[in-house]
Amino acid sequence: MSEGTLALLGGAPAFESAVPVGQLYFPDWPDYVEAMRGIFVRQYYTNQGPLVRELESALQERLGVRHAICVANATIGLMMAADALGLRGRVITSAFSFIATSQSLTWAGLDPLFCDVDASSHHLDPDRVEHALRQEDVSAVLAVNLWGDVCDHEALSRLAARRGVPLYFDSAHAFGCEAGARAVGGFGALEVFSFHATKVLSAAEGGCVCTNDDMLAARLRNIRSSYGAGAPVHVRRTANGRMSEAQAAIALMSLKGFPSILERNRALFAAYEAGLQSVQGLRLLRPAAVNRTNYQYVVCEIDAGVFGLDRDQLHAVLRAENILARRYFYPGIHRCMPYREQFPSAPADLPVTEVLCSRVLQLPIGQAVDEAAVARITAVVRAAQTNAQLVRAVLAGQGEVHA
Ligand SMILES: *Cc1c(COP(=O)(O)O)cnc(C)c1O
Repeated sequence: MSEGTLALLGGAPAFESAVPVGQLYFPDWPDYVEAMRGIFVRQYYTNQGPLVRELESALQERLGVRHAICVANATIGLMMAADALGLRGRVITSAFSFIATSQSLTWAGLDPLFCDVDASSHHLDPDRVEHALRQEDVSAVLAVNLWGDVCDHEALSRLAARRGVPLYFDSAHAFGCEAGARAVGGFGALEVFSFHATKVLSAAEGGCVCTNDDMLAARLRNIRSSYGAGAPVHVRRTANGRMSEAQAAIALMSLKGFPSILERNRALFAAYEAGLQSVQGLRLLRPAAVNRTNYQYVVCEIDAGVFGLDRDQLHAVLRAENILARRYFYPGIHRCMPYREQFPSAPADLPVTEVLCSRVLQLPIGQAVDEAAVARITAVVRAAQTNAQLVRAVLAGQGEVHA
């Protein structure tokens, strides 16, 4: 789009078809056919089959954890985790996350106790958590590891231990990351990964719960399969969180290709850094608390006063170009049902979360883009800034039409 006019201002879109944000791994077709043929030959679809077992061993080895318990998706993994931990009452967590984080608590009969996040890292602010831990009825801290980075797990771990409650993690964004030379997956009481198609390791749909606690693992296995797998132990209730063989087959291929997935992401991220470094009012987040990141997301924070457009205006510019930039997380969890009714004062209690929900935007990275596409996307962002005044005028006009 280098010289062209922005699509919002009447030019042709930078991309003919939609460019999504997610990682969207697809294996080579012959590998895919071969994997599915194996399932067909064995005539075995699900229930802790050979591929799920192979995947669990591979994950345990890679992450250095005693137990990797594969599940149908991370949401059910988080729900099972809350039950397996025997939680009651309230769980401290972040509202600046995907809604599944809090919904897992609600499904488990618990209430989230939202704590604000740090403005720079976007992760739970330990000072706020310390304060919240003084409240009654708190039975755990559910921290989120966002954007291929990690929260201040050392501070949170100290605080949780002092209060005598478990700390566990929604690590849906952090597969393949390392913190302090240790793989994410082995921290806290347990960690939950998502292998959704948009995540860096894909099972199409899927996830896994990692823990070094044998009893917790036994409970999780019983909950997952309604007592189907492993030694029976007492659990409050059971579910069906089983991962199918087809999901495991895709995850195994994704895992095999993981080094090249990471390498590709790293190169794309570098292309974004180069293309956006001169843009005033746009902060590109660089995962700062990890030794190694997965570059799962390209996260930008827009300062409207400096950039010239606000996040939503830039989002509209990108959409017109067929660049499906995402406003994760908008609206914040605290503004979604049932929480907005349950906690009407949350917006006032979470000032940093509120600001981030209005300023943060993700740009495409993963298999749907290459370096040339990234160059076009960053050119659109720069052109949006150059033409900010016109863009604002056009969007204001559209607003009147729609009003
Ligand atoms: C994707 C995601 C989930 C949910 O994962 P699913 O596998 O889709 O259930 C939970 N938390 C966060 C932060 C996520 O990004």
